Amino acid sequence: MAFWVNSDLSEPSCTLCNKREVVIYRRHSGGRLCRKCFVEGIEGAARRAIRSYNMIEKGDRIAIALSGGKDSLSLLHILVKLRKLFPRFDLIALTIDEGIRGYRQEAVKLAARACEEVEVEQRVLSFEKLYGYTLDELVKIAKDYLAPCSLCGVLRRKALNVLAKSVGATKLATAHNLDDTVQTFLINVLHGDVLKIARLEAAVEEAPGFVKRIKPMYRIPESEIALYAYLRRTEFQSRPCRYVRLSMRSEVRQILNRLEVRHAGIKFTILKSVERLRLHLKSLARTEMRTCEACGEPATRRLCRACEILSGIGVV
Ligand code: SF4
Ligand code: ZN
Ligand code: ZN
Repeated sequence: MAFWVNSDLSEPSCTLCNKREVVIYRRHSGGRLCRKCFVEGIEGAARRAIRSYNMIEKGDRIAIALSGGKDSLSLLHILVKLRKLFPRFDLIALTIDEGIRGYRQEAVKLAARACEEVEVEQRVLSFEKLYGYTLDELVKIAKDYLAPCSLCGVLRRKALNVLAKSVGATKLATAHNLDDTVQTFLINVLHGDVLKIARLEAAVEEAPGFVKRIKPMYRIPESEIALYAYLRRTEFQSRPCRYVRLSMRSEVRQILNRLEVRHAGIKFTILKSVERLRLHLKSLARTEMRTCEACGEPATRRLCRACEILSGIGVV
């Protein structure tokens, strides 16, 4: 973890306001922040990302991908707050119910409750409705064809795009954070997937046929979002998905967290490398987009990746 939560009142006061009790010490920068300065800092970081990349414009209908986890619930809160200051965009929450027994139902409920509290409309789309099967069923059918998280990731991406288009969203805001980008980068390196490294967009993703994706929290470490959610007393899904331990991402996550403990700030350094590499690999990232012959969603080949997988495991 890149921070510790203060329990000792004798610690020096906040480096910003010099008044209040410190709740976080950022080892990479040496900053010590009180609750108020920390919370404002997180919201400020998201607003800065939105401004620098022009993520939200007047008249936008922003769909937020709301899973019910700490990251997306924090993003919901940040965007609701921003809309109060800048009431020129519309907000709607999209929740994908993959159909994971003992996990997703709780998150869907928490997401619905949060939307009610902040009066944001929520739409839910299940894998069962879109694909005819729950993720649990598809995992059984797919056996060793694909790891559950790879299956889930591809199908959820498509489901979010379908739902975002159906509600007329102009942008899709996702709660990707610093750790997500750095993990994805390392996974692609481990898979030797240079094309995916070239296409890895930390802040904004744009491709024909896809609703433009914006990631206002892309520079915020996961550990700080967890602290933000905790300090705001956000009730979020805390039980892990039962498939997570099977994923390479969870191993990569542990490796990166261990590295961060010994080399504070290393995740920021990797993010910088991602951004620099992308500049050099830009020409590789250009891909001809087509339309999937089966479902009409964007594709780089004859079929989109979701249809390829579903036909590969014999369910379509
Ligand atoms: Fe899907 Fe894997 Fe996340 Fe579970 S851990 S919700 S299977 S991506
Ligand atoms: Zn302070
Ligand atoms: Zn398709």
